[in-house]
Amino acid sequence: MLPRLLNLDAPSSIPENSSMFTHVKDTRRPEGVEGTQISFDILETKVWVWIIPFSNGNTSIGVVGPTTYINAIPGETNTQKLQYIINQSDYYRNRFEGIDFLFEPHKIENYSCSVTRLCGPGYTLTGNSSEFLDPVFSSGVCFATESGMLSAKLFLRELRGEKVDWDKEYTEYMRRGVNVFATYVKEWYTGNLQTLFFHRPENPDVKEKICSVLAGYVWNEENPFVKKHDKVIKNMAYMINMEKEKSAV
Ligand SMILES: Cc1cc2nc3c(=O)[nH]c(=O)nc-3n(C[C@H](O)[C@H](O)[C@H](O)COP(=O)(O)OP(=O)(O)OC[C@H]3O[C@@H](n4cnc5c(N)ncnc54)[C@H](O)[C@@H]3O)c2cc1C
Repeated sequence: MLPRLLNLDAPSSIPENSSMFTHVKDTRRPEGVEGTQISFDILETKVWVWIIPFSNGNTSIGVVGPTTYINAIPGETNTQKLQYIINQSDYYRNRFEGIDFLFEPHKIENYSCSVTRLCGPGYTLTGNSSEFLDPVFSSGVCFATESGMLSAKLFLRELRGEKVDWDKEYTEYMRRGVNVFATYVKEWYTGNLQTLFFHRPENPDVKEKICSVLAGYVWNEENPFVKKHDKVIKNMAYMINMEKEKSAV
């Protein structure tokens, strides 16, 4: 609300994506670990379905993709559209086919958002009100907690009479983390990150470093996957694809 009132909305650097989601009573949930895991199925490079099981037996199901794709899903109602999507998933079709949705699926169009400034006289913007990238990795909760905590700590320092450089200590810091996460989101949708994820044999060192980034350690510049985020994914995917082409000849 505040960004809109203060006219601070800015276009996001992330491509225009949309999402549609609902909850179901997950009556065919598999026994054991699989039934407890958050997972997703990739229908196309830019289109994926999330499955998030809740402890009460319900499960969140959603689809994410380019806005043009989401708006063109066949079906008259959002229920029919999401059912169509479930039907496209070889992995989840049997588990969710014909299952009743607990509410008409919600659609959020072009969910990525940004602002021209994160703070000003008497206010700071935190969490979703400042920036939302994409649901593909858990950047939403990461930035909401980090920005909420940091702005509260800075505010307390200011209240004690200390000088706080909000641009440097808040805006620059938050933007640094957002930029790193934004690279990983963008490279997911270009397919480069998927090339790394699904490359076999996997490289445990690379896996650990990428997991660290996606777990929210986006300010750890000792990790080359943070420090060189703008090049490393692209370059590694390029090399893997070159190797594949060479061995196919
Ligand atoms: C379906 C879905 C799945 C998601 N999955 C993930 C995930 O797996 N991992 C992840 O990291 N992120 C996920 N996200 C994103 C994540 O939920 C958000 O990024 C995060 O909750 C943002 O936190 P926030 O505190 O900024 O905002 P919110 O959690 O939205 O909190 C804002 C609060 O303010 C209240 N509010 C709004 N207006 C007013 C008002 N005028 N007066 C008083 N109160 C008001 C709202 O009711 C709400 O309680 C998901 C989002 C959705 C919609």
